[in-house]
Amino acid sequence: MLQTPAEFVPLMTAQGHPDPIAFVFRSGRLLVREDDLTLPDSRVGLPLHGLHAEHFHPVGLWQQRYCCTTFVDAELEPQPGFAFVQLRSLFGSMDEPLLGVASRAAQLAEWARTHRFCGHCANPMQLASGERAFKCPACSMVAYPRISPAMMVLIKRGDEILLARHVVSPTGRFSALAGFLEAGESIEEAIHREVMEEVGLRVKDLQYFGSQSWPFPHSLMIAFTAEYAGGEITPDASEIAEARWFGPQDARPEAPPGVSISSLLLDAHWPGARSTRN
Ligand SMILES: [Zn+2]
Repeated sequence: MLQTPAEFVPLMTAQGHPDPIAFVFRSGRLLVREDDLTLPDSRVGLPLHGLHAEHFHPVGLWQQRYCCTTFVDAELEPQPGFAFVQLRSLFGSMDEPLLGVASRAAQLAEWARTHRFCGHCANPMQLASGERAFKCPACSMVAYPRISPAMMVLIKRGDEILLARHVVSPTGRFSALAGFLEAGESIEEAIHREVMEEVGLRVKDLQYFGSQSWPFPHSLMIAFTAEYAGGEITPDASEIAEARWFGPQDARPEAPPGVSISSLLLDAHWPGARSTRN
């Protein structure tokens, strides 16, 4: 699953290192060597793109190597032999622990890209000391990396589970319901609201399953199961193309990527499969 490797240590202060793990993002795409999809090295690959140590933000330490990240202008063309690729396209080809570090790096690079100026008084921001934040020297506004919590819920009814196809899903695959939290809302409140809005059902007995940081661009997916408590499936046509119960007799629909908590949630609760979590 996409997650931070266990031995990773976050860093807020830049360190010198002869061979850092350097993540360079352009509009969410990661700079890699075209031939083997590895990261550019600090001796050739980074200088070729005009990048030096002072351009990078600290991410952390992993396997005794300093990890750092930065963003470049949307117009910057990769040098011959390099390419900017979607992080999603590296699922399955880049090692999962390195992808986990890349997920952190992507979110920090996005934070740096989108907080160059104060959102209150428009002055250039400066890095704060002692915490990972930008601070405005004029009005003292502080901007932390943005994290957007979202709930995911798998509704169970007897030996059936409810899955839905979202209108905007690029793959058209069935998955558990999900949605972003509103400001001021608890996760539990968001689950009850989203389930009612999206499929018109009531649920009860919410059980926490797990969470996952999801760098597209800065979601925190918080997954639950819930028991059906009433109502008829009434999909919100603006969001849900189709929603229905899946039981032991049904073929499992195309699975979401194995790196996602959505996939783990289905694995643990697919009808007929022995749950590993309960
Ligand atoms: Zn300001």
